[in-house]
Amino acid sequence: TETVNRCAGCGVLLQTEEKGKLGYIPAEAMDKEPLICQRCYRIKHYNESSSITLQQDDFLKLLGHVGQTKALVVKIVDIFDFEGSMISGLARFVGSNPVLLVVNKIDLLPKVTNANKIINWVQRRAKEENLKVVDIILCSAKKNIGFDRVITAVQEYRGNMDVYVVGATNVGKSTLINRLISDYSDLDSELTTSQYPGTTLDLVKIPLDDGKFIVDTPGIVHRHRLTEVVKKRDLARIMPDKPLKPMVFQLNEAQTLFFGALARFDFIKGEHQSFTCYTSNAVQIHRTKLERADALYEEHKGVMLAPPNLADLEELPKFVKHPLHIPKGKQMDVLISGLGWIRVNSIAGAELAVHAPKGIKVIAREALI
Ligand code: GDP
Repeated sequence: TETVNRCAGCGVLLQTEEKGKLGYIPAEAMDKEPLICQRCYRIKHYNESSSITLQQDDFLKLLGHVGQTKALVVKIVDIFDFEGSMISGLARFVGSNPVLLVVNKIDLLPKVTNANKIINWVQRRAKEENLKVVDIILCSAKKNIGFDRVITAVQEYRGNMDVYVVGATNVGKSTLINRLISDYSDLDSELTTSQYPGTTLDLVKIPLDDGKFIVDTPGIVHRHRLTEVVKKRDLARIMPDKPLKPMVFQLNEAQTLFFGALARFDFIKGEHQSFTCYTSNAVQIHRTKLERADALYEEHKGVMLAPPNLADLEELPKFVKHPLHIPKGKQMDVLISGLGWIRVNSIAGAELAVHAPKGIKVIAREALI
């Protein structure tokens, strides 16, 4: 007969195949006692909540009925990829519950950026995405900016309800949850994972002093973000870890910029104008003539045009072309989800095309900065 192993901590079925998925345990830990999944192990020994992940459909299937309970939903988004990290199907999950929007990684914005302008921008963008929010907090979980305001806002809006923390993967949800855990450090010993009723999903719960909980939900994988598609070694390169140092390019029409071999930006038609690239410094930008772009790519992809390297490029979906029209009189950004954005500086309008791996979200939006 087959023996079924369950985690002594949370009761989840153990598996050694898929790291980052529920119940993962490294094979070499299978002969140690007690048998405990990697997630519980980390919580127990490091007070560290590591993120488990789910596809959006599974997330809504497993957690969809939170909408029928009374709760505060804390939604974390990443200012470096605002539209990419919004969760489109969230309305069903939220129901009539209040949503507190926490905008993380604010440390990445250039120092001069005016916080009120950012909040107003976020408010307009959230509205366009049909997300009603009770408040918007800017923060940096990593640099410890605005964290006290997150706590105050959670306390203010939750009343006597449970709090569900949701977010796409790589928005910094674990970093924020870990901050919450260490700020409630006297409660460490009571930190639990418990199975969500009627599911196989175990959730990390941080107890609050009125018997309610802050519940960490699985990170939602968005395949339209470049961060979820590149290899791990390239992830660290495309995600900036210091304030952005934007690069300005003065371009004539019929010029092209390559962002490694990750994306290509064509300025097809318009007046001579400047374009400001808000991308990680570790992604090299190459300028060329539009008519030379195809040949340059074929010749230099994966070597001069890197990341990714040639082998990893094989596994990246092929480029798809996104034509974009920037109307006259508008200040706009072109967002390539997970890679950053390019600000179109002139208000004279422009015809553009972005080539990005198939499936990656590319949009034009109101300029952030
Ligand atoms: P999760 O997948 O949402 O749980 O995200 P993590 O907490 O694992 O963070 C994903 C990546 O974003 C890690 O490389 C973090 O170091 C980074 N990160 C998290 N919070 C911040 C932040 O406030 N600022 C910056 N610059 N990076 C952050």
